[in-house]
Amino acid sequence: MSVTATMSRKADYPGLLTSTGDAWHYLDSAATAQKPQAVIDAMTRALGADYATVHRGVYARSAEMTLAYEAARRRVAAFVGGKEEELVFTRGATEAINLVAATWGEVNVGAGDRIMLSQLEHHSNIVPWQMLAERKGAHIDVCPLTDDGRIDLDALASMLTSEHRLVALAHVSNVLGSVLDVERASELAHGVGAKILIDGCQAVPRLPVDVAVLGCDFYVFSAHKLYGPTGIGALWARAEILDAMPPYQGGGAMIDKVTFAKTTYAPPPQRFEAGTPAITEAVAFGAACDYVSAIGLEAIHAHESALVAQTRAALGAMNDVMLFGPEDSAGIVSFAIDGIHPHDLGTILDEENVAIRAGHHCAQPLMDHLGVPATARASFGLYSDEADVAALIRGIERTKRIFG
Ligand code: PMP
Repeated sequence: MSVTATMSRKADYPGLLTSTGDAWHYLDSAATAQKPQAVIDAMTRALGADYATVHRGVYARSAEMTLAYEAARRRVAAFVGGKEEELVFTRGATEAINLVAATWGEVNVGAGDRIMLSQLEHHSNIVPWQMLAERKGAHIDVCPLTDDGRIDLDALASMLTSEHRLVALAHVSNVLGSVLDVERASELAHGVGAKILIDGCQAVPRLPVDVAVLGCDFYVFSAHKLYGPTGIGALWARAEILDAMPPYQGGGAMIDKVTFAKTTYAPPPQRFEAGTPAITEAVAFGAACDYVSAIGLEAIHAHESALVAQTRAALGAMNDVMLFGPEDSAGIVSFAIDGIHPHDLGTILDEENVAIRAGHHCAQPLMDHLGVPATARASFGLYSDEADVAALIRGIERTKRIFG
């Protein structure tokens, strides 16, 4: 039996059917993953029979919900090899990066300092740093890519200087699927005294992640790409770094003592979680980690890699298709077809119940580098299977016939 046949778990996912009950070939999991019933059930329970606020109530239900919320924090932290006191819940990866830029960046980046990004970053790992650099008079450097679409670590080694305060890179590219050697990138950053932030959005659903092995200082990700709900994500940061960071937003729950003369702040992670948190989302985030861990990221990675190989082979056999990214892309295949705009392809595929993403994928500097305004992108989840690949290829062949 093929790897893909053993893995397909479509029955767990009510979202994988069309409104008329047909199979929906959902190939946009890099944008957001469909939710397994286990996550939907966890969220429904938290929002229903178990619902109460956290950290404040003296009544039993609130105490239980507080335990569930903090258990979710432990679960999510453990999912990436971290400790609970190092795990801050945020609205998503975007807010996690903005949080680091606004707090750590505020005290650690000054005029003339440098921040190193790469050519393939998502806008959410570019714009917050540009805003910080503008505020502080710091400079942004851009690490180039290798010909096959990886962050060029040899170039990084030669570009880094003692002026660099931070290196911020994607673990897995949301366009190319290329996987960063985070261990080496961390060594290079630390070699010049810089900190390193890893955008793990596309890595956590696809690869086993252990921050202790990776050696990074910050690791950010969103629950909704990891089969969990929207509206919640995580910032993991080394305890001593979090300890030294000033607060992000002010309000309830993040304080130690408030007087009009002076307010003191709670220790991390509470210091960074002002206001009533996303309680139900946190519980469901923990359930998503349980669900993915029970299947195992080694198996998920092997499964998605087999689908990537099939897709790349089928597209590579078409002489009018340009494939982007390396052979060993993690779960993501970007491509362009001569004479067919990705949006037209996406629209015609939709008629065949095949959902892909077409556009710049929030990575306009990467599009400039590739020399295209947009790409078509098929991205897999643990529920994807060979039928999805076959439907994609059939749909592409039909689109090419329509365009003559
Ligand atoms: N980084 C990468 C690599 C992503 O793919 C995404 C989502 N497309 C983000 C950051 C931003 O994630 P979110 O919108 O969930 O905050």
